[in-house]
Amino acid sequence: MYDLIIIGGGPTGINIGIAATKAGLNYLILEKGMLANSIYHFPTNMTFFSTSKKLEIGDTPFVSHTEKPTRAEALEYYRRLHQHWDLKINFYEPVEEMQPLTSDEGYRITTPKGTYETMAVALATGYYDQPNLLNVPGEKLPKVKHYYDNVHPYIGQEVLVIGARNSAAQVALELWQKGSNVTMAVRGDSISEKVKYWIKPNLENRIKEGSIPAYFNTTVQEIKPNSVILNTPDGKKEIPNDYVLAMTGYHPNFDLLRQIGIELCDDDSQIPTYAPETLETNLSNVFIAGVICAGMHTSKLFIENTRDHGEIIAEVVKARKEEKVVA
Ligand code: FAD
Repeated sequence: MYDLIIIGGGPTGINIGIAATKAGLNYLILEKGMLANSIYHFPTNMTFFSTSKKLEIGDTPFVSHTEKPTRAEALEYYRRLHQHWDLKINFYEPVEEMQPLTSDEGYRITTPKGTYETMAVALATGYYDQPNLLNVPGEKLPKVKHYYDNVHPYIGQEVLVIGARNSAAQVALELWQKGSNVTMAVRGDSISEKVKYWIKPNLENRIKEGSIPAYFNTTVQEIKPNSVILNTPDGKKEIPNDYVLAMTGYHPNFDLLRQIGIELCDDDSQIPTYAPETLETNLSNVFIAGVICAGMHTSKLFIENTRDHGEIIAEVVKARKEEKVVA
């Protein structure tokens, strides 16, 4: 019987693991992929918006060459944390199911590799593996991507970038700078106010000068092998197209949360039910942490502003364990 099972080995899961180590808890992290799986799948050459100082977890210094670290530097940091804190993580082991134990308090967690019993559970499953789909004909064509890796495959190609937030803005600019023919389709009437201040004017100027054609108040109607049909304010428009990069965001795995029994807000936010001071959900000794606490509002919480989650959860689990021993 573990004191705590942590689902997800991203920055949040690692952070909880470090806090659990410090609290002397018998814990295990179950990660469906590799260490910091989401960050590994970020664009190869990305630079974080946050400074490395603000991404530090477990009181462990994060050194980067410039103020803001790259993805490669972040991955090195997480590898160091894994080694330094001797984190107990099982990789390539997705959690599929969780059930309460019938005989006692606690839960049974099932993965394809086995079952585990634990007194407490912390969910830190992020959102990056569930893209927000367009739900239009042609979305399953291999030329449609919901993740951007690097510019090389797109050189000399007609690329449609869908979206107007940070990822879409950065991808559109990089593609244009390196030699793709980029067009943007934006549902609203402007580039999002949330786009970082050092990116937004650059993109807006490229749009203004015509280097990056952008259709605003526009949705995608259909994706065909060699073209895309857009619904623009001036009517339907079919444009030539080799690739579609749908940078339309991601969302938490709500099916897993529901299966586990966590109640979600019934409005569009789908924010899970939890107590902010303990991060405990409607299920006793089941906690959520990191970006999933924000439901669909994925840009509200990130690494920087959820770094206290590890300690909060470890302290509650430790206190309850001690109460049990005394009783
Ligand atoms: P994740 O990093 O998504 O980790 C969740 C982990 O859970 C993953 O490893 C996943 O494989 C695993 N998992 C999922 N389901 C299961 C399952 N069923 N069983 C087992 N494991 C599972 N934030 C900042 O603070 N500063 C920034 O500068 C910044 N820049 C960003 C740039 C980009 C391009 C993006 C996309 C995000 C950025 N963010 C930034 C946000 C930040 O990356 C996320 O907030 C962060 O990854 C959240 O950490 P997490 O551990 O909660 O989730």
